[in-house]
Amino acid sequence: MKLKADCVLDVKAELGEGPAWDAAAKVLWWVDINRSTIHRYDPATGKDDTYGTGAMVGAVVPRASGGLVTALADGFAFYDTATRKATPIVDPEEDQRANRFNDGKCDPAGRFWAGTMGMDGGKGVGSLYRLDATLKAERMVTGVSCSNGLAWTADAKTMYYIDTPLGTVDAFDFDVDTGSIANRRSVVRIAEGEGHPDGMSIDSEGKLWVAHWGGWQVGRYDPATGKKLGQVDVPAANVTSCAFGGPEGKDLYITTARAGQDEEKLKAQPLAGGLFHVTASVAGPPAAPFAG
Ligand code: ZN
Repeated sequence: MKLKADCVLDVKAELGEGPAWDAAAKVLWWVDINRSTIHRYDPATGKDDTYGTGAMVGAVVPRASGGLVTALADGFAFYDTATRKATPIVDPEEDQRANRFNDGKCDPAGRFWAGTMGMDGGKGVGSLYRLDATLKAERMVTGVSCSNGLAWTADAKTMYYIDTPLGTVDAFDFDVDTGSIANRRSVVRIAEGEGHPDGMSIDSEGKLWVAHWGGWQVGRYDPATGKKLGQVDVPAANVTSCAFGGPEGKDLYITTARAGQDEEKLKAQPLAGGLFHVTASVAGPPAAPFAG
């Protein structure tokens, strides 16, 4: 498989991230972390609405009861697009102001998982948290450098996770009843020269679509063998994440960034920071909404 992504929104995001397909509203939520903005892209109209969060926003997902839940630099918060207001839930890193939240996603039972990273790139200073429907946050993984992609298998027995500088996709045994994880191991390693793993999504065949930061692509991998099965070329170096959506779940939306590159490098990729799309050969599930 070798596909090419097209730009559907040339919005020059600083750090586009966290796409999540909202199956109920039929829209794509995504964020520009550095501009503290939530985006709502409606493919039916081509319209992209933006909402300021007042703090850097790492991830956004729909709530089952309506509205959104986000991971802001200063903690988990609900977000109401009608009033454009964030309501804090809990900040598990109140004492670590040099950290901020990054990528996040809900597990099949509707718990919101999101992790942190040091804003100065400090090694191992972040953690991965689990926000339960009771609105209690639990620290699940420590020693994280740059918390990124999350995905769960359809049988909910395995959770995949990316800590970017490790260069790997790791797997955990997952208990959907309790939300506990165990037995961490690496299942995919990104090839030398193809950048670093960032966000990811899983398709209906259990294969992983991994965004390559600095790698101009989304790679498709088999976590059972570690083998790369194909790629989607993206005309931007820093590819940050991807999410399946659309009426059949085959519309793959891809976020990118301008951040981390000088003007010279950006000249060669005028569409960097745009939202991209490709029709995939397989479908993937929409975002699981937050149960709380
Ligand atoms: Zn990311």
